[in-house]
Amino acid sequence: MPKKTQRILVTGGAGFIGSHLCERMLRDGHDVLCVDNYFTGSRSNIAHLIGDPSFEVLRHDVTFPLYVEADRIFNLACPASPVHYQYDPVQTTKTSVHGAINMLGLAKRLRARILQASTSEVYGDPVEHPQREGYWGNVNPIGPRACYDEGKRCAETLFFDYHRQHGLEIKVARIFNTYGPRMRPDDGRVVSNFVVQALAGQPITVYGDGQQTRSFCYVDDLVDGLARFMATPAAEPGPLNLGNPSEFTMLELAETVLRLTGSRSRLSFAPLPADDPRQRRPEIGKARELLDGWAPVTPLEDGLERTIAYFRLTLGHGPARSIIAMPAASAPPEIAAALRRVGGGPAPAATGTTDPAEPIQRTSA
Ligand code: NAD
Ligand code: UDP
Repeated sequence: MPKKTQRILVTGGAGFIGSHLCERMLRDGHDVLCVDNYFTGSRSNIAHLIGDPSFEVLRHDVTFPLYVEADRIFNLACPASPVHYQYDPVQTTKTSVHGAINMLGLAKRLRARILQASTSEVYGDPVEHPQREGYWGNVNPIGPRACYDEGKRCAETLFFDYHRQHGLEIKVARIFNTYGPRMRPDDGRVVSNFVVQALAGQPITVYGDGQQTRSFCYVDDLVDGLARFMATPAAEPGPLNLGNPSEFTMLELAETVLRLTGSRSRLSFAPLPADDPRQRRPEIGKARELLDGWAPVTPLEDGLERTIAYFRLTLGHGPARSIIAMPAASAPPEIAAALRRVGGGPAPAATGTTDPAEPIQRTSA
């Protein structure tokens, strides 16, 4: 039986993960409304979707009420990089908390199901390892990361109170470090920093001794997890860890990026930022069980190859040999467009689209 078309609202839809999620929802046959204020997102992330009759964009700040129609809401609006969320910490808390209240109010009026993009940061600098959903975390409530961590924790509280008090159908996904094409070159997170630095021949900035760990999930795997979670029965509100359990030190990541890029950049050590978690790895048993065996399938090296290819093309460091052979289905549209210009890669998409390979915009952040 064909799937029913749903009206999907994606807040933060012009951001890194949001733009991939919009694409996925369109591919699944839904109508998509992308809402974004472009604080860290970019029109170039969604330019290839403009012109699709099932896709609409609305410039809007979620700290203000929103009156639209939708069957399902993915609430992703919030800067995610420490550099960006600490740029205006008061606004970050407002986005998480007022944004959650506004989107929950909208969901309540519409009786729509709503998914919150929560984060592994709710576990803070974890004392338990790996992190299970039952762990309450170790967050400094007054530190520089608190605007994000506590904002996201408060949003989770609001989601569960709307669920208990108003019977709202909620899904709380705790997303662990995710990377891939469409991260901003000035995003400030470790994968984009290391790749951009390696490609430019600049020093690789390792914070602390580089022995802290993270577990990196390729964006396609994460988006698949989000889509599947949204479709689970109403009785499954989460919270649910979504991430890749393969754990690496930042030194291992730096070495891998240097090897894959062939860069001769040196390592440059800088002080560890305050409250930087020492280790992080998701326990994903609950997700595997609930999401029909879902698990990340993209090894770090493969995901890094695609990310490196993206930055090579968008930053003008020349065509990337590794993606010339990439199957059309897995080539992000901006890479496909750039490949067409250099005479390689997959054939043009059938739909009439704008060329998305415009330079990535920088914001004041
Ligand atoms: P991103 O910064 O690329 O995307 C966030 C998007 O939200 C941007 O398009 C931005 O312009 C928009 N936005 C910010 N404030 C807004 C506001 N007030 N109103 C409307 N739009 C607003 O980050 P991302 O990595 O794509 O993260 C998306 C979501 O996933 C965030 O909620 C983040 O907290 C969560 N998350 C991401 C990761 C990760 O590793 N990428 C990890 C955990 C959680
Ligand atoms: N990091 C680093 N060099 C950089 C950027 C980040 O060594 O140029 C470290 C950072 O201190 C942290 C890890 O990489 O230990 C992941 O940082 P990121 O900002 O990507 O995400 P988060 O700390 O939110 O997991």
